[in-house]
Amino acid sequence: MSIRDPKISFKQPAPFRRALNKRIQEYFKTEGKSRRDVPQMYLKTFMIMLWLWSSYALLVFGPGGTLLTIAMVISLGMATAGVGFSIMHDGNHKGYSQNRVVNALGAYTLDMLGASSYVWSHKHNKIHHSHTNIDGVDTDIDLGFLGRMTPEQPRMAMHRFQHIYLWFLYSFLSVKWVYFDDFKDVIRGRVGQVTMPRPKGKNLLVFLGGKALHVTIALVIPMMFHDWTLVLGLYMAILAVQGVVMATVFQLAHCVEGVSTANVEEQETYIDKEWAVWQIETTADFAPNNWFVTWYVGGLNYQVVHHLYPSICHIHYPALSKILAEVCEEHGVKYQIHPTFTAALFSHVRWLRRMGHPSTVQTSQPQLAT
Ligand SMILES: [Zn+2]
Repeated sequence: MSIRDPKISFKQPAPFRRALNKRIQEYFKTEGKSRRDVPQMYLKTFMIMLWLWSSYALLVFGPGGTLLTIAMVISLGMATAGVGFSIMHDGNHKGYSQNRVVNALGAYTLDMLGASSYVWSHKHNKIHHSHTNIDGVDTDIDLGFLGRMTPEQPRMAMHRFQHIYLWFLYSFLSVKWVYFDDFKDVIRGRVGQVTMPRPKGKNLLVFLGGKALHVTIALVIPMMFHDWTLVLGLYMAILAVQGVVMATVFQLAHCVEGVSTANVEEQETYIDKEWAVWQIETTADFAPNNWFVTWYVGGLNYQVVHHLYPSICHIHYPALSKILAEVCEEHGVKYQIHPTFTAALFSHVRWLRRMGHPSTVQTSQPQLAT
């Protein structure tokens, strides 16, 4: 059901959140660590940017050859997704630095990659983070008729095969985002059912300038040196790699077995759980002991901590997840962790199969009391 600007409230008071905040504060105090401006982040940013630009230089100005071209397409697809995970995400959540210019620069890397940081801040920070896995508000679980992500969404016969065909559609995520979704959201002045002020002044300049800069770097400059059909084909391939990688990381956090979902049926909806507990129930971690995954996805494999403390630099997430696990244990809250990337991946496939199966009947806001 489509309800414009639904109001969703959560249970109060929030003893779990209070206890957790206290422990997190104690951690930073006793360890003498800063929540933002972590030196490793600056080094990491340099490394990822080096990866990105050396891949670009090798692809556009390098010696060519089929193998090198394929390797650089995959490398660029992964490096651009890495910029999104590790630099843009912290910057846009203001978790990179105390300095707002540094955060803005981090956020603007998304504009360079072709997608709007302005729209993202509304879609991701305000809508997805506040109302995770609530159908009718959270656009991250809204694939339209193409996919059924929650039991509350209507089922169509083709969803029977969504665990197979969605992987192909994930490869179009980036191109749709850059050239369709951003423009649609800005023109309509809303993201899904939630109103978004249209960008003006500096925000509009960054929106349009970012799109122009991206097209110049990704298409115009390469076309000065290579045939335009080849450039366009490789560009689409890079966006396809980036799309599959990003969609996978998004989905492993919220569309796996065991997570809670709900939907909006009223203008004002009350969820009978405190907000922090809802975040933990709708989100799952994966591969916590895999250092490469943790590095590459910008700590988003510790997605639960990220949802609770998005403005703390992601370098801290592994340590904070241990505190979170203790507090969850004390309060009887189930903290969901898939031990490996593969385990989470299979869980996502099983979730898609279950949502697409005729036996999974459509339910109506099982977690809500309105
Ligand atoms: Zn986030």
